[in-house]
Amino acid sequence: MGKRFKIYISSRSFGVHTEEAIELLKSVGNVERNLTGKPLSEEELKHIIKDVDALIVGIDNVTSDVLDHAEKLKVIANYGVGLDNIDLEAATRRGIPVVYSPHANSDSVADFTLGLILALLRKIIDAHISTKAGKFRSRKFLGVELRDKVIGIIGFGQIGSRVAQRAIGFGMKIITYDPYVPEEILTKFNAKKVSFEELLTNSDIVTIHVPLTEETKNLISERELKLMKKNAILINTARGGIVDENALYKALKEGWIAGAAIDVYEKEPPEKDFPLFKLDNVIVTPHIAFYTRDAVRRMDMMIARDVVSVLQGKKPINIANPEVLK
Ligand code: NAD
Repeated sequence: MGKRFKIYISSRSFGVHTEEAIELLKSVGNVERNLTGKPLSEEELKHIIKDVDALIVGIDNVTSDVLDHAEKLKVIANYGVGLDNIDLEAATRRGIPVVYSPHANSDSVADFTLGLILALLRKIIDAHISTKAGKFRSRKFLGVELRDKVIGIIGFGQIGSRVAQRAIGFGMKIITYDPYVPEEILTKFNAKKVSFEELLTNSDIVTIHVPLTEETKNLISERELKLMKKNAILINTARGGIVDENALYKALKEGWIAGAAIDVYEKEPPEKDFPLFKLDNVIVTPHIAFYTRDAVRRMDMMIARDVVSVLQGKKPINIANPEVLK
């Protein structure tokens, strides 16, 4: 038998919980799993990192200070696409590969986005609650069709383009704002490139699929919400912070737009008395757009394979700092 490595899995990596992935990890090492459901504190991480060969995390903060305590760490794996919780530069400086699972959940997020659009426009959640409460009435729940409606997709990457693919199936018209996407991709998805302002003024549905950056922070604020149609809806399954939550509250309360669906928040979890929770024209979910059996399994296997590869001295597939391999 080869060398037995020590592999630690944080709770907030949502598992690496398919048996196949765990078995794969066990083939090279001893696996310790944290099942508290909470992210690890810096202090906890400093303690854990001392003694492990592989650290698998999710939203836990792996800072430079934490990395200072590593004595035999060979790989960090981050569950998901966003790497904002890892000090990548510090890991690179120490020659530690950081592997992750990009785009494993794009279809799941795109599906969920369409689900939110339908739920809002067909009032599915209110109708469900009302029907269960014994009120078998339809008048309140008059909806609209998706055919011929204009969907404005902000950010036409992996997820945005998949939303477009689905929107084509519903007979929608697609406009997009993404200064960085090549024209041939837009042509492929029948999407028309427009300015940011044109997108806001012409869309029946505005859906956000950009990363949170300096440039996109508060991208949608009072001015933008006022430009939108009064009967339009806004969907955010990208990141909290891209939409100014106070401005959105005002817009929904005062009827500048008709409704919104939000999966992501500036602070997660939001406070119990979060203002948006009090409104009727909003649907809220707890950052679950990516969370399907299929995506989780895909992410589990991507992470497990790459962790095993690094531990065995082989090249991983999805590495955020390939320069450490040289
Ligand atoms: P991606 O990198 O494939 O696409 C992002 C697109 O945004 C790119 O085409 C880029 O050109 C464009 N873009 C960047 N800055 C822009 C700007 N200022 N204005 C307009 N367009 C801009 O990323 P993706 O995989 O499609 O993910 C998009 C977002 O979805 C990310 O923020 C990610 O964190 C989020 N996400 C959320 C969940 C969830 O569960 N809710 C899951 C996965 C990803």
